[in-house]
Amino acid sequence: MLTDLREAYRSVTHRIAEAAERKGRRPQDVIMLAVTKTASPDQIRYLVDQGQVDFAESRVQHLSQRVAQLNEFLARKRTLGGASTNETSSQATDVRWHMIGHLQRNKVKAVVPLVKLIHSVDSLRLTEELQAHGMRYETNIEVLLQVNTSGEANKYGIASPAALHMAEQIDTMTFLKLRGVMCMAPYTDNPEDSRPVFSRAADLFHEIKTSDFVDDQFNILSMGMTNDFEVAIEQGANVVRIGRALFGENE
Ligand SMILES: *Cc1c(COP(=O)(O)O)cnc(C)c1O
Repeated sequence: MLTDLREAYRSVTHRIAEAAERKGRRPQDVIMLAVTKTASPDQIRYLVDQGQVDFAESRVQHLSQRVAQLNEFLARKRTLGGASTNETSSQATDVRWHMIGHLQRNKVKAVVPLVKLIHSVDSLRLTEELQAHGMRYETNIEVLLQVNTSGEANKYGIASPAALHMAEQIDTMTFLKLRGVMCMAPYTDNPEDSRPVFSRAADLFHEIKTSDFVDDQFNILSMGMTNDFEVAIEQGANVVRIGRALFGENE
């Protein structure tokens, strides 16, 4: 099982690098999130040992479980490493979790302390809840705006015409930091179907980036999954979210 993962990890990393280079970009400028929905704890630990830093979950309950499991592993690893400050132990502390699935307002409190970035901010009411949480706990919360540039097919995401206004609203919320845009294309067997969806998301990203509502930390364009990550990178993604290509289909 870990042999499969080793091959898959190599292959995905390689394909990301090739897609980046096709567009004259550096491979290291594209960050891969390992989406752990179908991963076993062993597989997650294996990737941590390989130096994988970014992990993502789409469900709050899974996220809490994963973070707890991994923290236990990392703590044990540090204890075993003793007082030494070698590469491995410092690397291990650098794991970052991302929330990429739809977030209900009553789950904000559970999620915020666990993650580096919330990719799925898709309503004004959710931003208000996040801002209230940030204020209450005096903590800054980094978010992406999830946009729906595919029309009807997606259940979640802000419609394109409303995105800039949303950025303006978030700019007034002192505990929220808007870091970029997230987009999910409808599932398809043909990755080329995703290209216009990603192209429109990239346009929106640039429109917001050049507005007065964000600063130069607005620099993340999160799009592309197992089926379409190469197309996403070609259209400008600098964060891709990969599950099945690493861990297979099994739940
Ligand atoms: C599950 C999921 C992914 C990963 O999808 P794969 O097709 O398994 O690569 C990426 N983004 C979101 C929002 C997801 O829910």
